[in-house]
Amino acid sequence: MSKLNLVNHSEEYDTEYDDDEGADIESQASYSTKIFNRLTGSYESVMGPFNKVLRQNDPDRINVKKVQAGNMHLLSAKYESLDYDVCENTLLIDEERTKGFRFIQRKDLYRWVIMIFIGVITALIACAIDITIEEISSIKYSTLKTEVDECILQGCLIVPFFLWIAWNVVPVLIGSFLVAYIEPVAAGSGIPQVKCYLNGVKVPRIVRIKTLIVKVLGVTTSVIGGLAVGKEGPMIHSGAVVAAGISQGKTTSLRKDFNTFKYFREDHEKRDFVSGGAAAGVAAAFGAPVGGVLFSLEEGASFWNQSLTWRIFFGSMISTFTLNVILSAYHGRPGELTYAGLLNFGKFDNTSYDFIEIPVFLLMGMIGGLLGALFNHINLKLTIFRMRHIYRKWAKVLEAIIVAACTATVGFSMILFINDCKPLGEDPTRYPIQMYCGDGQYSAIGAIWFQTPEASVRSLFHDPPGSHRLTSILIFFCLYFCLSIWTYGLSVSSGLFIPALLTGAAWGRVVGMGMEHFFSEASWVDPGKYALIGAAAQLGGIVRMTLSLTVILIEATGNLTLGLPLMITLMVAKWVGDYFNEGIYDTHIQLMGVPLLPWEPPPLSHNIYATEVMSCPVVTFHMKETVGTIIDVLTSESYNGFPVVDPPNPSDYEDGQVNFGTFRGLILRSQLIVLLQHKLFIETSESWDHKGVALKYFRDAYPRYPTIQQVHISDEERHFTVDLQPIMNPAPYTALNNASMPRIFRLFRGLGLRHLVIVNDNNKVVGIVTRKDLARYRLEKHMGKMRLEELTILDR
Ligand code: ATP
Repeated sequence: MSKLNLVNHSEEYDTEYDDDEGADIESQASYSTKIFNRLTGSYESVMGPFNKVLRQNDPDRINVKKVQAGNMHLLSAKYESLDYDVCENTLLIDEERTKGFRFIQRKDLYRWVIMIFIGVITALIACAIDITIEEISSIKYSTLKTEVDECILQGCLIVPFFLWIAWNVVPVLIGSFLVAYIEPVAAGSGIPQVKCYLNGVKVPRIVRIKTLIVKVLGVTTSVIGGLAVGKEGPMIHSGAVVAAGISQGKTTSLRKDFNTFKYFREDHEKRDFVSGGAAAGVAAAFGAPVGGVLFSLEEGASFWNQSLTWRIFFGSMISTFTLNVILSAYHGRPGELTYAGLLNFGKFDNTSYDFIEIPVFLLMGMIGGLLGALFNHINLKLTIFRMRHIYRKWAKVLEAIIVAACTATVGFSMILFINDCKPLGEDPTRYPIQMYCGDGQYSAIGAIWFQTPEASVRSLFHDPPGSHRLTSILIFFCLYFCLSIWTYGLSVSSGLFIPALLTGAAWGRVVGMGMEHFFSEASWVDPGKYALIGAAAQLGGIVRMTLSLTVILIEATGNLTLGLPLMITLMVAKWVGDYFNEGIYDTHIQLMGVPLLPWEPPPLSHNIYATEVMSCPVVTFHMKETVGTIIDVLTSESYNGFPVVDPPNPSDYEDGQVNFGTFRGLILRSQLIVLLQHKLFIETSESWDHKGVALKYFRDAYPRYPTIQQVHISDEERHFTVDLQPIMNPAPYTALNNASMPRIFRLFRGLGLRHLVIVNDNNKVVGIVTRKDLARYRLEKHMGKMRLEELTILDR
């Protein structure tokens, strides 16, 4: 029997829901059958300690009727893994031998050249987004200001109100339409998806050019539409797409192959560039090249080496430099280089702090953690509601429009009902509106709303003491907090950093006012500084990043003195938040059912062994296999990797059920498909593997391989034979059947594996482990106790 504490999930499957497409996930547990065996208590072994795997056509296969969307205990089988292990097959070794050291040097040079391109293009995209938003927003807010100023005298305030709604709704309508109807994967910031990619999960369509176009247009319209969003998060995704595109020298979407950089057409090379692209995105967004490198490191790249780090840093530097040059010129100060990132925190005058303040920073970290946990909890519930009820495209667009209209209504109501007047000139606001204030005064609330959220964050950081009233800031905080929860997860491209920073800056400013009140004489009291710490606490409490976020914020403020307070705050915010729930990105990743492997193996898993985790019997191939057999296996099974074994001896049969064969290598479904597609059969093309053409076939087909159904094989060809030896990976990683789960996990995580073959003492294949076999173990609280649970893998 399994040594696991098995948890009965069966109650979850009872609920039936309406039949609408997308609402439910209908599941047929084809290859997660081990789990279902256990659930029903029919856990039996075909041989000694090994698990039984039920195949799709088995009569005792358990059909799980309908599973409700938004279930956190599921892994989706639609997410395949990336293969970060280099397939050192004969073809590759031949290529390296014939081309020599100069080829390796040239490849290395190209890597640097590509990094330059990635940095420059990511920065150009960031500049295009920024300048478009600046220009259109200035038309929007100046028009609104003129209308408000005129109508306040003529009593026609309804006109600017509806005008504001129109200015919000129209861009958001365009953006959400693009996302809902053209490319849904462009929704949100894209950070969870990039995180998955770096972790080794292939999220469909994530690095396509169409996704990039929709993302760029989407985020521009969302910010212009006044939603509680920022443009920084999507820059990370954009950088990743740019990197994936440039490094491959082709675009499959536009069917254009530039015939360059062909050697980089494999998962692990592409992954390295994507980490560089994500880092360049962070660098462009926050002017934080070091933060960018650390982001890629923290968020996934477990496979890291010194030269890659250096290259990524170079790309990030290029990105921030390019952005700086262009934006400085745009703002009329060419050569000054004062715009290192899209988000500019501005210079803090007073960054000194006293020991007395450290407990205050700790307290603020706790508040940030609590508020972050609350944000994530409500957003989780809302996201589940959306998955179950707002899944139709038109409904998603409608919801985005409603949120846009509500944002304008909230802003307008605050300006109308909160009488917070300040003398003109104290605050460098671009569109001051007078509303009901006296001559020479302007509405402080109007100033916050009549600008982009980035500008509002800057105002809260730098407005002189006394610029805001306690009540107005508190009301603003409550409303903006709710709006940002509602907005995250809408069908629009949007970043979370800015709304989190803005809400945090608002309550941080309130803390600052309190400190001003109690320590009015102290020189170190500055409400702007507390706004910064509050912003960091809020953001840290929501996203739970520590290392990279601290460095990003230090770089964005351009000041090292506040490094310690920022670090303390972020750490405490993470600890407090983690006590209640997961970070927002991880929560959304779980909702998507992505088999993400965390940094460490799940606790309490040392007593789980390979034999319990693996699948068996394993579907294998022989070195020389007939075409018909390959076609039949690929059609009937959905697996992507197959061990290659010697034909077993009669003595290898035990109980007549399991065929053990000596392990010889591993072959992927994609490799088999390319072999069949180009008809590289022993009978028809004798020396195909010596001409170097086969590698070209594989590289040309990467990354979108045809399906087995798209490969046409005649009846005669079914009897031909294929030699798998030159193609297969002859020395993939393996583990012994008595290896513990943490050991297997570390191997998988550290090397970015896709398949791990389990062998016995005689090097015979007894099982296979994939990412999903490991990702489905999760530590969960059950009746007040932490225990290891097994998730279910769904067909889709
Ligand atoms: P991926 O989807 O990660 O690219 P894959 O499609 O080969 O890899 P999974 O979808 O992760 O495999 O596999 C689902 C289940 O099938 C897992 O429990 C795994 O152990 C099992 N499995 C994978 N390959 C084989 C195989 N060749 N023979 C038998 N079982 C397998």
